[in-house]
Amino acid sequence: MLGLPPAALRLRLDREALADNWRALDRLSGNAGTGAAVKADAYGLGVRQAAPVLANAGCRDFFVAHWSEVAPLLDLVPPASISVLHGPLSDSDVTYCKATGVKPVLNSLDQIVRWQRGGGGLCDLMVDSGINRLGLEMAQLGEAAEAGLEIDICMSHLASADENVAQNAQQLARFSTIRGAIKARRYSLANSAGIALGADYHADLTRPGLALYGGIPRAELANAIRQVVFPQAAVLQVRDLQAGQAVGYNATFVAPHAMRVGVIALGYADGYLRCWSGSGRFRWQGTELASLGRVSMDMTVVDLSDAPDCREGDWIEVEYEPVAAAAATGLSQYEIFTLLGNRFARS
Ligand SMILES: *Cc1c(COP(=O)(O)O)cnc(C)c1O
Repeated sequence: MLGLPPAALRLRLDREALADNWRALDRLSGNAGTGAAVKADAYGLGVRQAAPVLANAGCRDFFVAHWSEVAPLLDLVPPASISVLHGPLSDSDVTYCKATGVKPVLNSLDQIVRWQRGGGGLCDLMVDSGINRLGLEMAQLGEAAEAGLEIDICMSHLASADENVAQNAQQLARFSTIRGAIKARRYSLANSAGIALGADYHADLTRPGLALYGGIPRAELANAIRQVVFPQAAVLQVRDLQAGQAVGYNATFVAPHAMRVGVIALGYADGYLRCWSGSGRFRWQGTELASLGRVSMDMTVVDLSDAPDCREGDWIEVEYEPVAAAAATGLSQYEIFTLLGNRFARS
């Protein structure tokens, strides 16, 4: 069989750091268990790579958003440990759920009826405590309680846990009402940032996503969390510019003097958006390199003036520490991760 040629773009995943981040968040979650949000391909890192690491570290609860995200997990973790946050929108979602043995997160009275019509069974329940996104309304708690559901995780989701605002305590108070009204095996409120809000927010299970992958939504987590993902791009071509020659679309960079530059296989189609133009930083064997001109779809040009020995085919490290990357681009740390495209070889 014809082997695939090597990729020119890859994501190095620091598996130790990923496992350490889960363990750190588990410690910070106190007596509560700690799950993992692995939706959106584990925030762009690659769920096939991340899930086994998290499972080995001790994670027993995995959250995805779409039903399409179930299949890539099924041979990696027990189906009963997978919760599908969007819930069953149709009878075929219920059928798929029953056939695979995963849990639906029921978000509305309609979804409760649909689930029970399909035979019911162990499920999760989402109640909205103030984010006004998915979830049962507080006013519907009585009706939901009477439905006789078999609930594993009764959860709610914090809107502003990354800020010190009154909304956190308001949601916590509503969550206490939810706990009083709904009988469940376990209760869960905190995302990554919520873990740092303290023991009151931990309940029985926390659901971090961002911080597992190296994101730092609150300063309290800075010392506990390590960078997990390291993008690398190959040098496709090295060229010498004369003073006055321009680089890239719309000639936004003009060489002030003769300089050596490299064209690397990373562009906005890979999630390295045009907002990095001018501010992107790279590294070759420890030497820092600046980006020059516009990021284009498949390529970015870097200054090799300080790396005279860098050659075509060499690997360039992309500076991608999420806090600094978000500050440099105006993107959120969530976007910094989930933008990473499917041309990266994830291994
Ligand atoms: C995405 C998500 C999480 C994880 O949130 P982070 O801020 O990434 O830690 C937890 N719970 C629910 C319901 C989510 O949708």
